[in-house]
Amino acid sequence: MGALRNVVIAILVLSILTFIALFGQLPALRKTPIGWLQRALCLHLPNGLKYADQRATGGRLTSRSKRLGQYLFYEQNPVVLVHPTLPTHPHAKLSTLQIIFLLLLTLSSTLFLWNASHRLPTTLLFPIPLLLALPYSFTYLTVTHQTHFITPSNLHSRLRDYPYDHILFHPATPACRTCALPKPARSKHCSLCQRCVAKSDHHCPWVNNCLGRGNYRYFLALLLSLGILQIYGACLSLYILRPIYHSSSQTHPHNSWTDIGDAIVSAINQGGLSIAGVGLLAASTAALPLGLLVYHCYLIWAGMTTNESQKWADWRDDMGDGYVFKASRAQLRTWNRLRKYRGGGGDGGEWQRVNGHGQGGVAENPALSIGVEEGGDGSEVLWPTSSDQMVVRTNDGKPPVGQEALWTRIWGLDEVENLYDLGGWENFVEVMRGR
Ligand SMILES: [Zn+2]
Ligand SMILES: [Zn+2]
Repeated sequence: MGALRNVVIAILVLSILTFIALFGQLPALRKTPIGWLQRALCLHLPNGLKYADQRATGGRLTSRSKRLGQYLFYEQNPVVLVHPTLPTHPHAKLSTLQIIFLLLLTLSSTLFLWNASHRLPTTLLFPIPLLLALPYSFTYLTVTHQTHFITPSNLHSRLRDYPYDHILFHPATPACRTCALPKPARSKHCSLCQRCVAKSDHHCPWVNNCLGRGNYRYFLALLLSLGILQIYGACLSLYILRPIYHSSSQTHPHNSWTDIGDAIVSAINQGGLSIAGVGLLAASTAALPLGLLVYHCYLIWAGMTTNESQKWADWRDDMGDGYVFKASRAQLRTWNRLRKYRGGGGDGGEWQRVNGHGQGGVAENPALSIGVEEGGDGSEVLWPTSSDQMVVRTNDGKPPVGQEALWTRIWGLDEVENLYDLGGWENFVEVMRGR
């Protein structure tokens, strides 16, 4: 019993820690105990260890673990990448994390069904084949998806998917150095997949693929189906264990919390690892896929990807410091034309291009150097909304010199439009259509 209890405690602690690490960074949770714990775990604890290592070994452990981290997360290695396994999908690769996930799912369901199926009525067994088939099918679809990778042959279409918003994405961004292809709006190069990904969300080591345009919906379906399977498994285990608990209460009435605790422990004990252990594992970890699903629903509702939510968070911080200004692109163009007509003049405020390439003291104003709102190859973008806004971050907290009248300081994200937000429901429809 002691071993089972320890396993249960370890599972609970691990799920709580994972939850804190995953969700403590969310803007809504930043100023709550979850946010504080996340910073303590992910920021202060590593800093403290680094300091201790600096004093003890002169920083040797830190540099070694940094190299290991770099290897594990950003380079191809057996943990995140094992070799091609599916002849029909030569690019799909299995990772160790993925193998662990599939093994855990397969072993725990087999163990549970082997010992529990004869104790369950047919009506409760009936949905199991479907509930089990769904997570495997969605894993397969997420893992083998390839069309979100940007290639010379689909580049033209990918450039037409989304307009550049001139805040997070710019048509003037240099081409990807690895792929040697222009970067469509909302795309990102993945160092693990070694390719640029359309509407990049994030690289998921559990499915060993990038989530982006097309397979993001399968990933959401995987989270949902996995969460449902786990809850259903936990309910089945409760269904088997409850009579044991109740029968013990008839022979020995539960008068105190200790009695109730003892009865629960004895019911778990009689259920054994295959029923009580699997049930507890399912119940305690169901919050992970479902919590992640809720987080992704929030992102979809807000019209952004995980990648974009990080970029927006950087903007929000700079806005809070009062370093961000917005202007109308049409007005900036008119201003530029008039300035050229008058023979130029000394403008060129200390503005910094939003994509991080500092260009202090440029003579042209941002709207002209960034160009028109079509896709990079000049074809028309198939996106229902457009925007006239231009947003810049300045180095000195002052609006671009000579153009003060054209720029308004903005203090928060609510003052800028998110061009990729079509409205909550429409955003969901887009994702479900694989866009
Ligand atoms: Zn690339
Ligand atoms: Zn990737």
